Amino acid sequence: MQVFTGKSILNGIAIGPVRIYHKAQNDTTVNSALTAEQEWERFETAQAKAQEQLAGLYKKALAEVGEDNAAIFEVHQMMLEDEDYTDAVRDIIERQNATAEYAVSTTGENFAAMFAAMDDAYMQARAADVKDISQRLVNILSGGADSGFLGEEPVILVADDLTPSETVQLDKSKLLGFITRHGSSNSHTAILARTMNIPALIGVDFDESWDGKTAVLDGYNHCVYLEPAVELLASMEEKQNNDMKQTALLQGLKKKPNVTLDGREINVFANIGNAGDVGLVLQNDAGGIGLFRSEFLYLDAEDYPTEEAQFSIYKQVVETMAGKKVIIRTLDIGADKQAEYFGLEKEENPALGYRAIRICLTQKEIFKQQLRAILRASAYGTVSVMFPMVISVREVRDAKELLEECRAELLAEGRIAGDVEVGIMVETPAAVMMADELAEEVQFFSLGTNDLTQYTLAIDRQNPKLDAFYDPHHPAVLKMIRQTIEAGHRHGCWVGICGELGADLTLAETFLRMGVDELSVSPPAVLPLRKKIRSLDLSKEI
Ligand code: PEP
Ligand code: MG
Repeated sequence: MQVFTGKSILNGIAIGPVRIYHKAQNDTTVNSALTAEQEWERFETAQAKAQEQLAGLYKKALAEVGEDNAAIFEVHQMMLEDEDYTDAVRDIIERQNATAEYAVSTTGENFAAMFAAMDDAYMQARAADVKDISQRLVNILSGGADSGFLGEEPVILVADDLTPSETVQLDKSKLLGFITRHGSSNSHTAILARTMNIPALIGVDFDESWDGKTAVLDGYNHCVYLEPAVELLASMEEKQNNDMKQTALLQGLKKKPNVTLDGREINVFANIGNAGDVGLVLQNDAGGIGLFRSEFLYLDAEDYPTEEAQFSIYKQVVETMAGKKVIIRTLDIGADKQAEYFGLEKEENPALGYRAIRICLTQKEIFKQQLRAILRASAYGTVSVMFPMVISVREVRDAKELLEECRAELLAEGRIAGDVEVGIMVETPAAVMMADELAEEVQFFSLGTNDLTQYTLAIDRQNPKLDAFYDPHHPAVLKMIRQTIEAGHRHGCWVGICGELGADLTLAETFLRMGVDELSVSPPAVLPLRKKIRSLDLSKEI
C-alpha cells in the first residue's frame, strides 16, 4: 500500500479502480512508430467510435432540442465517411509515415481552408464542421474527454488537470472520485465536483503505474491509498457506510423550514450547472435554484446553442421546479470557462479580461438569443435573470434594455414572454462600492463570493500556489458582504449569497445576523445548512 497526499475539495470517500485520463494531444507528432496499415486501422477504429458517439448525440439532441437542431450530427456522420476526406487521411498516413492523429488534423485543416475559400456561404460554414469532426477523431485517438474512455465500471479519475468543459462532458454516473495533479480548490472544476457530490483531491503527484489499480480517496484526510491494505479498506468502507447513514439522517429534514430557534426564516436554494442537476435539487429539497450557471450549456456544446436549444433546456428546468424560483445567470464565459467556437483570444490576465457581461454587451446577438430563450421559458414558471461580473450602472441599464428589446420582439412575433425578476451578481469590489446605485436598477443582488474574494484580495482563484492566501473569511470580504446586504435592503432589494462561502457552516450565523435573505449552495450542502440554521438562536447576544 502506498499513501499520497493532496488537498481535499469535498469531504467524502471513494473506493474503486483508478483510470488515468490523458488530454487530447493537439500537438500531434508526424512520424509514427507503427506501420501505415496499423495507423490506418487506428483511424478506422476511431472513425467507428466517432460514428457511435454522433449517433448517440443525434438521439439525445432529437429528444431534447428537436430535429432541426439535431440535424448537425447527421451532417457530421456523413462527413466522417466522405471519401475525399478519408482518402486524404490515408494518403498522409502512407506517404508521410504519419500518425493517424497527424493525418486527421492536417486533413481537417486543409479541408477547412478549402471550404472557407469557397464563395458559397453554405460551403464556407462547413469549415467549422470539418474541423469539428477532425477534433473529435483526434480526441478519440489520443483518449480525450469525449472519447468515451470511461467504460462501464465506475472509476476514480486521475488526471493532470481538468478544465470545466472537459468535466461537463464526462459521464458523471461513471465517476467515483477525481484526483488531479494541478488545479485550485476555488476553480470551477472543484465547484462541479462539489455539485455532483464527488470526493475530489487536487495537488496529488501520481504516475502512470496507477492506472487500473485499486485506490481509496480519503477526502477527510486529504490522501489517497493506492492498493490499500485489507484492514484499511475495511475501515474506509465502514467510514463510507457511516457517511451514507449521516446522509440518510439528514433526509429527515426534508420539507422542514429553514428557520432558526428564534423564528428567523431564510431561503436555502441550490446552484446548478445543467438540467441534469435538477434531480439533485429536488432530492435535497432546495427551495429554488439560486444560480443556474448557464455557461455550462455553452461549454457542453459543439457550437453556439441556438435560442431553441436553450429554450428547451430552460423550460425543462423551470417546469421541473414547478413554480419554485429559478435564477438563470446569463452567460459567464471567459477566464477558465472557454468554449473553442467563441474563438476568444489568449489574454495576459483572463480573470480581468474579456468575459461574462463584457462579451454579452459586445456580441449582442449571442446575448439576445439567450435572453429570448429565458423570456420564453419564464412563461412556464418563476424565472429570474441575473447578470454576472457587473461593475457599473451603465452595464445593467444596457443589459436591461436588451432584455426589453427581446421582450418587444417576442411579443411582436406573437410569442409569449413571461415576467422576470432582474438581479445582478455582486462579485466585484466596484459593484459593492456602487451597491446603492445598482440597487435602484434591480430587484435582487446575489453575492458571488468566489470572485469577490479573488478581486478583493487580488488573488487569482485559479492559482493553486495561492490557495493558502485565498481567504474568503478575510475581514475585507466579510465587510463587503455586510455592506452589500445593507445597501440592497435600503433600496428594497433582497440579497443572497451564491458563492461557495454560502455553504460554510461556520459563517451561517454571521450571514443570518447580517440579514441575508437567501443562501444558494451546491445541492448536497442544502440539508446540512438547514440543520445548522435550525440550531441557531439569533436572540442570544454574541
Ligand atoms: C462567484 O463568483 O462566487 C460565483 C458564484 O460565480 P462563479 O463561481 O461561477 O464565478
Ligand atoms: Mg463569479
